[in-house]
Amino acid sequence: MSLLRVKGLKVHYGGIQAVRGIDFEVGEGELVCLIGANGAGKSSTLKGLMGMVQCSGQVTFGGTRLSNLATHAIAARGLSLVPEGRGIFGRLTVAENLDIGAYTRRERAYVRADLERMYGLFPRLAERRSQLAGTLSGGEQQMLAMARAMMARPRLLLLDEPSMGLAPLMVQKIYQTVADIASEGVAILLVEQNAHLALHTSQRGYVMESGSIVLSGPSQALANDPGVKAAYLGE
Ligand code: ATP
Repeated sequence: MSLLRVKGLKVHYGGIQAVRGIDFEVGEGELVCLIGANGAGKSSTLKGLMGMVQCSGQVTFGGTRLSNLATHAIAARGLSLVPEGRGIFGRLTVAENLDIGAYTRRERAYVRADLERMYGLFPRLAERRSQLAGTLSGGEQQMLAMARAMMARPRLLLLDEPSMGLAPLMVQKIYQTVADIASEGVAILLVEQNAHLALHTSQRGYVMESGSIVLSGPSQALANDPGVKAAYLGE
């Protein structure tokens, strides 16, 4: 059974229809990507899932309906978003940012254990735990945003453009961590403009154009699709 099942999801901003009734699924522990050009509606899809924008359609997660729930209630059920631009709190320390990620959780001993687990996954953050987050490099801020999202113990992590604005070496590091997180059994829905990277990291993918899903399949097959090659892989 699918962990996340989406049917007819629509997102609109006033008169602008950003997502036009899309269907997709993410299985338990699966790494799925959503690729498409700038403005295709990828971020709006993620925001719709988190209840951060007005949307309609049916979203089922772990067998329960999410539609019309508030963002905090959706997060408490196991969805966690790492937003585009990261959204870290620059005037708080690394440790304080991570603590905020666990705000829905009450068992503090487990939260402390998870904090150490995150420092294991991101040694760079461990070295900088007392540093103000605003002074971190772009790549370190991306790590912090991912670690903060993981502090909520999600069953599904939504990643919005984790490679954006980062140097190639840092992109490699971030994607290694994406793979590490996936290998722990956390399902991931990865939104990327860098289709090459996304298709080589994920098991399955969806291609979005102008608010609709136009193609889907195993990532390997998408990477070999002539249309995808021409439009998104620069081949
Ligand atoms: P990007 O990678 O640039 O974020 P995207 O595929 O994630 O692209 P969205 O950000 O979801 O695309 O945008 C889809 C459409 O909705 C675009 O036409 C965009 O201009 C519009 N849009 C996005 N956010 C808003 C908003 N807050 N108000 C009005 N229109 C918006």
